[in-house]
Amino acid sequence: MRAVVQNDKKRARLAVSTSRKTAVGSAALTLAAAALLSGCAGGAEPATGHGGPARAPDPQARAAAEQARLAAAARRWGLDRVPLTPPAPPARKPKITPRDGFEVDGQEEEDLPPVFTAVPTKQRVVFLTIDDGAEKDPAFLRMMSELKVPYSAFLSNYLVKDDYGYFRRMQAQGVTLNNHTLTHPYLPGLSYEEQKDEICGMQAVMKREFGRAPTVFRPPYGNYNGDTLRAAKACGIRYAPIWDEEVFVDHWEYRDWDRSLHPGDIVLTHFRGRDDWDGTMVDDMRRFLNKVTREGYAVARLEDYL
Ligand SMILES: [Zn+2]
Repeated sequence: MRAVVQNDKKRARLAVSTSRKTAVGSAALTLAAAALLSGCAGGAEPATGHGGPARAPDPQARAAAEQARLAAAARRWGLDRVPLTPPAPPARKPKITPRDGFEVDGQEEEDLPPVFTAVPTKQRVVFLTIDDGAEKDPAFLRMMSELKVPYSAFLSNYLVKDDYGYFRRMQAQGVTLNNHTLTHPYLPGLSYEEQKDEICGMQAVMKREFGRAPTVFRPPYGNYNGDTLRAAKACGIRYAPIWDEEVFVDHWEYRDWDRSLHPGDIVLTHFRGRDDWDGTMVDDMRRFLNKVTREGYAVARLEDYL
């Protein structure tokens, strides 16, 4: 697997100037951003003149300044390159349907929440989803906020209840907090009523602690049956995204045979730290961002597409 990733890195390096151009919007700004990224003091002059009267910066100058800020943040967090800016969310939301083979009996007739692993879109975006809530790393919050990378959190109460405040800070940064049950059980092993207690119980916790009950739910381990989706719907859930790829601190795993990212893919990772694997959340995000960026993907916000 490592070999594949390294090959990808080589290939994607060839495309870097193109992707940066897209993000900034003009060749001149690209040069300016590239100079800043490489720490090079010479080269492109800033667009605004020296010593002139103070003026509000024009949109291009603002974009260049923001790109320079992002470049500095990317360097600080040890990324290979600056994460791409996602396109505006679609004006008309895509129709989310269950992935083929992931439907349950009564899916359409009862209008049950769809289980899906990707969002239908042609935009070169992927969605980052982070599960459970064991690790509460302040550096991770700083990194994601400075890099402006959106993601969605799926929380299980038994892991987050010792520090709801950490997730409130996350929420204040624009992250949507979603339902991942009270105790993270294997749901198909439970009765309908027990499943409903797990899902509705977490809805109540989220309403109490975070001010709103979500409409998005992920079954633990991606395991569910008809009762899961029926219970979820009864608790106010409309979507049950699972994932196409999973990133770990030291490797990637793929659901599909082609072992690659596609537009609209949902990527899973976990709130984990050195207790669980050989690295930090920041290391995990570095692996995630380096791959998606070098393959030309921006990270978009899942809920903007639902
Ligand atoms: Zn989980």
